[in-house]
Amino acid sequence: MYSELNTSNRILMGPGPSDAHPRVLKAMSTPLIGHLDPQFVTIMDEVKTMVQDTFITKNHLSFVVSAPGSAGMETCLVNLLEPGDDVIICINGVFGGRMADIAERCGAIVHKVEVAWGTVISPEDIRKVLDKCPKPKLLALVHAETSTGALQPIKEISDLIHNAGGLLMVDAVTSYCGVELRVDDWGIDAIYTGTQKCLSAPPGLSPVSFSDRAVKVLENRKTKVQSWFLDLSLVKNYWGGEKRAYHHTAPVSSIYALRESLRIVLEEGLENRWKRHQRVHEVLKTKLEKLGFRYLVEEQYRLPNLNSVFLPDGNDENVIRSILLNDYNIEVGGGLGAFSGKIWRIGIMGESCTFNHVNMLISALEDMKEFNA
Ligand SMILES: *Cc1c(COP(=O)(O)O)cnc(C)c1O
Repeated sequence: MYSELNTSNRILMGPGPSDAHPRVLKAMSTPLIGHLDPQFVTIMDEVKTMVQDTFITKNHLSFVVSAPGSAGMETCLVNLLEPGDDVIICINGVFGGRMADIAERCGAIVHKVEVAWGTVISPEDIRKVLDKCPKPKLLALVHAETSTGALQPIKEISDLIHNAGGLLMVDAVTSYCGVELRVDDWGIDAIYTGTQKCLSAPPGLSPVSFSDRAVKVLENRKTKVQSWFLDLSLVKNYWGGEKRAYHHTAPVSSIYALRESLRIVLEEGLENRWKRHQRVHEVLKTKLEKLGFRYLVEEQYRLPNLNSVFLPDGNDENVIRSILLNDYNIEVGGGLGAFSGKIWRIGIMGESCTFNHVNMLISALEDMKEFNA
């Protein structure tokens, strides 16, 4: 026979998932109801409004994709792109690369703007690509690159792409509810996020939102969207419209959890939440630097909620990270791609963003005889 589920009580300080609030876990154990039950329709409407509030947008087409952040990414691209469209994809880490891969699969002509991992894309980089590709349909960028800990400024690039007549698409999986993000003010036309990072809900859902400009592009498509499940013209009637019709069965328990996590965010207030992430980051930074860690990203472009750091010399990151997990129950992330084996990615996201979390991590390192400060 198999044993009962028996996972350890981990402290989650990696690139996601983050710790969930007990209220969110409790919401998940609420009895199931049917996904077309009028009570569930009310819950969906509430979630939709809370998604608009947390994105700071009035966009009508705002809802939640029943799949993780990567599916939100795919939803934006497969719906907005058609074969032969010119698209600009900004790449400064793993997730920009993933967007380019999806856009190529859509048959789009992909113009990549690639800069070194750990840096950000400048308006000058965008002006250069617009010289070669003056009429792109879309420009996509990653607001918070979780693979490197870089925070991409958006405003100026937003103006450049709009002046060229294109749409701005943003990956906000790690920035959402952790750092300043204003969908309407910043002119973002398509955005997706995830639930397991600064929202501190379980993984597996992706809130998305589309501007009226983007909706016009959807309405003028000449070809069918290649994916049935992610086709907005079908799924949008499930999340709105006069009469709710079956599209797929919503993940009822996950939506309960999402609703509770959004309620917690709105109780705290978005701006307070952004400030909390910054404050805790500053304490973590001071303590890490005292132990000899060095940051990968230049200070002005540093993400507060995802700290990418080189370990002090004389430490094998994999050994120390395993001891942290096995002996102290603390999870931090390793590096990806070229930074694999070289850096740690320390997340302080949502419920994992407290002074206690910082103290637990720092004390564990100070306590550990294998760690060389
Ligand atoms: C985590 C992440 C994703 C992917 O989300 P999943 O839920 O793992 O599919 C996409 N973009 C960024 C920036 C992320 O951090």
